[in-house]
Amino acid sequence: MNIAVLGAQWGDEGKGKIVDLLTPHFGVVARYQGGHNAGHTVYVHGKKFVLHLIPSGILHPGVRCVIGNGVVVDPQALFTEIDELARLGIEVGDRLVISEKAHLILPYHRELDVLSEARRGERRIGTTSRGIGPAYEDKIGRRGIRVCDLVDTKALADEVRENVHARNQIIKDNKMDWRAVYERLLADGERMRRWTGDVSLMLAEAMQQGTRILVEGAQGTMLDIDHGTYPFVTSSNASVGGACTGLGIPPKAVHGVLGVAKAYTTRVGEGPLPTELHGEMGERLRESGQEYGASTGRPRRCGWYDAVAVRYAVRVNGIDALALTKLDVLDGLPSIDICTGYAVGSRTLTEFPADLNTVGPCEPVYESWPGWTTPTRGVTRFEDLPVEARRYIARLEEVSGVPMAIVSTGTDRTETIIRRDSIAAQWFPDVSVSAV
Ligand code: GDP
Repeated sequence: MNIAVLGAQWGDEGKGKIVDLLTPHFGVVARYQGGHNAGHTVYVHGKKFVLHLIPSGILHPGVRCVIGNGVVVDPQALFTEIDELARLGIEVGDRLVISEKAHLILPYHRELDVLSEARRGERRIGTTSRGIGPAYEDKIGRRGIRVCDLVDTKALADEVRENVHARNQIIKDNKMDWRAVYERLLADGERMRRWTGDVSLMLAEAMQQGTRILVEGAQGTMLDIDHGTYPFVTSSNASVGGACTGLGIPPKAVHGVLGVAKAYTTRVGEGPLPTELHGEMGERLRESGQEYGASTGRPRRCGWYDAVAVRYAVRVNGIDALALTKLDVLDGLPSIDICTGYAVGSRTLTEFPADLNTVGPCEPVYESWPGWTTPTRGVTRFEDLPVEARRYIARLEEVSGVPMAIVSTGTDRTETIIRRDSIAAQWFPDVSVSAV
């Protein structure tokens, strides 16, 4: 049974920890979109790993990891990550397969990213300026360079010359020498060769042999290029449809969808966040939750749990169950709010609007729930949670429309509740984490 694990909010939901926790039940972990703007933080026995491009499954010996065609690859970022893993004692070896159809991020994409944000001024998106958006623009514009293009050196030279020339018209200062870009690419291609392959075929063969695949999303549904808060979104499909196009697998190959949602809401960068808290409470969530970007260190905007957004993500992705993370961050709060709708004038919206001009004047409709005084941090059995925390979760299940199969109560793998009475028991029957 193959499962997709993806973000049900604005990214940074703690997917890294959940994927890492579930990986022992799978033979392959596959990423389908995004680039090295993702930042999965995983703690294993107190040791911190931040993975940007390579699926966190790589931390588990014997697990194969896939970077699908839907991902944009910066070769330098890839090599840095491989070298860093080696330094920490983890050999990538032949466990990594990068799709030969994946598009590359080239030096001019980074320059264009910075330039485009500067041009937007007040209307900036808040990108990580790593060239991801411009690389996707070139992909859609049919002038991108793919991993497999690094083989035909003559055609590559022509392509690079043309592309760099076009970029030099836009980037007036800091002009690029196409030869330097080309030489670098040749060297990158040489090093990358051992890891490149036909991902769609490899996954089909793995499935035929009965190997389970965990499909890993980056960012979150509300940052999806089509279904997110456009234009304040990422340049790819973070929602489940991206898994099929970004890996070359059919929809029926995804047997279950596990959404990941924080017990509150955060977002990094610009764009709407209806439940954002500006005062002391926002600061309190940021500090307790250590809400600073894993990739950029930027402080994340924080707010209460937004059930409108999560319910929307449940629908768009067909989420069967949620993994609720960071419950412990709410420890000690006297009361906790849940947003169940948005008030606009005399109307209450219960669906996330497409038009951001509608989101702007929205006032979240809150219901208030009592907090708990006994810490939830590190709790591994559902019945050991304070009764108020259990009630809070039960209410989140009602307003989100799906059960919370997993509850995360800390950064470590062991600080997790897997509920045996949930769908997780079917997906992971041999689950080793202590559970209800
Ligand atoms: P991702 O991109 O969705 O993987 O999220 P990030 O890795 O950027 O952010 C999640 C952060 O929250 C990481 O630092 C995790 O170690 C941490 N985290 C995950 N689950 C929990 C939890 O249940 N409690 C606490 N306190 N931290 C958690």
